[in-house]
Amino acid sequence: MPTPAPTATRLEIQITGIRKHVAKCITEIDGSECGVCSAVWDTPMQTNNWMREHAADTGHELFEKRTEEPVGVFSRPVEARSR
Ligand SMILES: [Zn+2]
Repeated sequence: MPTPAPTATRLEIQITGIRKHVAKCITEIDGSECGVCSAVWDTPMQTNNWMREHAADTGHELFEKRTEEPVGVFSRPVEARSR
């Protein structure tokens, strides 16, 4: 009686959406962080413009740029190797 071969699967991670860009001011003022966050944009250019404006307005110089993107985990069968 033939037993069905177990299907090997692997989990793959795929980007499912648009990468978002956000910046945060981490300049320390009197021992605590400024902490002001930009809006979230689809392009890094707007993040850079926001940092320039915030720096020009406040004299703050240290920022943290972040990107985030939605991802999904998919289970995909591993292809059988031919021998
Ligand atoms: Zn600031």
